[in-house]
Amino acid sequence: MRVACRRSFILAIDQGTSSSRAVIYAVDEHARLRVVAQGSQAFKQYYPQPGWVEHDLNEIWQSVVVSVAAALDTARQSASFDPKQIAGIGITNQRESLCLWQAQSSAPVLRSIVWQCKRSESVCAEWQERGYASWVKARTGLCLDPYFSASKLAWLLKEQPQLAGELKQGQILVGTIDTYLIHRLTQGQVYATEPSNASRTMLYRLDGTWDPELAQRLGCPQHIYASMQDSCGEFGLTDIAGLLPEPRPISGVLGDQQAAALGQQCLQPGQLKCTYGTGAFLMVQAGEQPLISTQGLLSTVGWQVGGRKNYMLEGSTFIAGAGIAYLKDIWGFLKTPAAASQVQAVASPEVMFVPELAGLGAPYWQPRVRGTLLGLSAGTSRDQIIRALLEGVVFRVMDMVEAASRDLQVPPQSLQVDGGMARNDPAMQFQADMLGIQVSRSDEVEATALGVAIMAAYGCGALPSLQLPSAAGTCRSENIFMPHIQDHERRQHRAAWQRALQAALVFADVDLKSSVKL
Ligand code: ADP
Repeated sequence: MRVACRRSFILAIDQGTSSSRAVIYAVDEHARLRVVAQGSQAFKQYYPQPGWVEHDLNEIWQSVVVSVAAALDTARQSASFDPKQIAGIGITNQRESLCLWQAQSSAPVLRSIVWQCKRSESVCAEWQERGYASWVKARTGLCLDPYFSASKLAWLLKEQPQLAGELKQGQILVGTIDTYLIHRLTQGQVYATEPSNASRTMLYRLDGTWDPELAQRLGCPQHIYASMQDSCGEFGLTDIAGLLPEPRPISGVLGDQQAAALGQQCLQPGQLKCTYGTGAFLMVQAGEQPLISTQGLLSTVGWQVGGRKNYMLEGSTFIAGAGIAYLKDIWGFLKTPAAASQVQAVASPEVMFVPELAGLGAPYWQPRVRGTLLGLSAGTSRDQIIRALLEGVVFRVMDMVEAASRDLQVPPQSLQVDGGMARNDPAMQFQADMLGIQVSRSDEVEATALGVAIMAAYGCGALPSLQLPSAAGTCRSENIFMPHIQDHERRQHRAAWQRALQAALVFADVDLKSSVKL
């Protein structure tokens, strides 16, 4: 049995889609984690063609270095902080994004193809025609969508076939963001990943490890992928670009949504959390056996500890806070995302916004669908459009929670929420109204960083278990939203949403009968 050590610090690196963050936690002798300091840095998004999204890996690396330096600077102002007492480093990251880099130098070969990028739609359509859907779902828990890394890699190798040879010879390496950061942080010493990230690539068997048969069928190279480790343990030593007085161990790695679920202490089967960041991601704790969804959700690995896997059911929708960023940056409707909280949510089915700027995700999986705004009149205001977008995200989460409750065959009791858009009180109130259950917002703003800090602390022996002693799930009253509306109002909103969704599908020329449960 592990015993928590006296006092130590954990550095959590959260490499997100729009920014990177570093959070330093103090772990005390009662196994409690307290934030000591944090830093963050945004980086550029590249949109070379409609539907395409890329990141520059050097810019991502710089954003990590800058945010770690900022967190360390702030922490050093606290008398109790000693960087030599950083017992472990955790890395959590945007998932699925495809990275290729030089094995010798860690220099990027090209910009990463981001999870939101739809360029591999035609690859997925071809797989669909070949009848791969159920075969892939049974092995990987995933559905054929450009979201996952394998279709991005298959697309790239069709476009640039010479890369296949360089990958096979080991001159260049391929992986997700965790693998890239581990390689660069360890000065090229370590090429490794873990199952919560690997299970999002579509090259990994849910009940096993990398699957060469999958790789071969999906047009990807076999036997070239990073070594697979538990989600906690020894991933190598780093001093992060000379910022630390001595090298410290990377002791925990998790995909961002799995980390948020751990940060929210979603440990009991059936517990749900939703993170409203760039997109909205619902995670449902499934326990030690994979639960294959019949309702359009994904099955995924939560984490692997001591060789044992924990599984989750997941619903992903690609636009949440990113929709607010879009109304702010492109339309100039808002000065800051926080200003969206001032827009009162007097829900009315007059204006509806299906917020699918990057394709329709779970439980429908229609990548061709795009954002659709309906019900405009000459008097429609900016506020109504902002409100309709927020409500559209709420309806998308409602669809996913309902799919999860059909898979679980038990209605959920409550929904735990976190992430940037979860700060929007009117939106969270509307979420409680539409689900008819309590919505509890985490007091801990950074559930993602907290989750990987727990994993890293466990991995280096600073915590005795993944379960925190404090009653996680208890929140301050201003963070609890109870449903207020009547059933008939809920039915009215729901009917309006279904009509709007149907309109978006019709406009995208999707065959409603063939693939969509409405
Ligand atoms: P990520 O980890 O994906 O980068 P975050 O959890 O940091 O995302 O959330 C950032 C997102 O939240 C941004 O897209 C921003 O537009 C949105 N956001 C922040 N505050 C609010 C708010 N009060 N209302 C609505 N959206 C918000």
